[in-house]
Amino acid sequence: MAKTKLIDSFNREHTNLRISVTDQCNFRCIYCMPEDMQFMEDEKIMTFDEIIHLARIAVNLGISKIRLTGGEPLVRRGIPQLISRLRQLDGLKEISLTTNGIGLIKQAKDLYDAGLRRINVSLDTLNEEKFEQMTRRKVLSRVLAGLKEAQRCGFNPIKLNAVAMQGFTNDEIVDLAKFARENSYQLRFIEFMPLDADDIWGRNMFVSGKEIISKINAIYPLERVQSNGEAKHDAAKRYRFTDGRGDVGIIASVTEPFCDQCNRIRLTADGQLRTCLFALAETDLLTPLRTGASDEMIADLIIEAVRNKEPGHKINSADFVKPKRNMSMIGG
Ligand code: SAM
Ligand code: SF4
Repeated sequence: MAKTKLIDSFNREHTNLRISVTDQCNFRCIYCMPEDMQFMEDEKIMTFDEIIHLARIAVNLGISKIRLTGGEPLVRRGIPQLISRLRQLDGLKEISLTTNGIGLIKQAKDLYDAGLRRINVSLDTLNEEKFEQMTRRKVLSRVLAGLKEAQRCGFNPIKLNAVAMQGFTNDEIVDLAKFARENSYQLRFIEFMPLDADDIWGRNMFVSGKEIISKINAIYPLERVQSNGEAKHDAAKRYRFTDGRGDVGIIASVTEPFCDQCNRIRLTADGQLRTCLFALAETDLLTPLRTGASDEMIADLIIEAVRNKEPGHKINSADFVKPKRNMSMIGG
């Protein structure tokens, strides 16, 4: 018997929901946003009550994991309170958060006290100059201090997300691995995907998962971890250090797509349901919610959107069409 009512026409069961709580951000990463980003109008953004309402419907349909993301989730006030409220949803097993880390110096404790335990922090480089080039902000030391504070509070696991870009990541792969090993962070490299706003993506612009593994393996030997059960749906392929000092994940969305194992759906900050990062269509859940649709009607919209989910992304096909929204508007 399936654990979820969210089953698509390829028999993929969906248990994982990412909710973007804002499209705003205090960084301007070159692989994500333009410098002069136009943000959504405030009244279009879901209130916390609306987020909880839609999350409750989704959990009743079989969603068991929710990740909060953005934009930068921690620029929105009250995220700890939102987490406390989400934790009360019966049937929700896991809540996590993806952040650029800058807000952790101030907010890590409140997030931890609200019951959050799992965080992913984006960290593409340990070099201040490169950090400024990639994020257009000169704040590496504050992100590193935020990471330390999160560790001090007891977050576990702390995952580091590094977007792998040609010309930036190549010469730092091993340094990032060393940093993660020494500080007990779980490092994950993400191949740069065509979801940037400035159209800089190209087939020569990402570093492949294979290259990353081969560079790390030459210094710190690795072995592949076979994924079973729930872990089968993890976007990251895991490799463990043979000396037992942690592991590295590779999210090779471009060179080794994992669409056949996908169990995710996404809700944008303005309440649009997306069945794929690269979807060209969205299902508006917020307008029906605001105009009095019943929970059953909204549940049907979600079930129907999932049933029509695309087989996979087409990054590697000649007919690939880039979504209109960039990553910060979708919620990565
Ligand atoms: N602001 C938060 C952060 O940066 O962690 C959360 C939102 S961000 C959109 C979520 C994740 O998407 C981050 O790890 C970020 O590095 C990643 N990301 C953004 N644009 C990307 C792209 N074009 N290709 C691959 N990953 C990307
Ligand atoms: Fe902001 Fe995250 Fe996008 Fe960077 S990746 S611009 S931190 S939303």
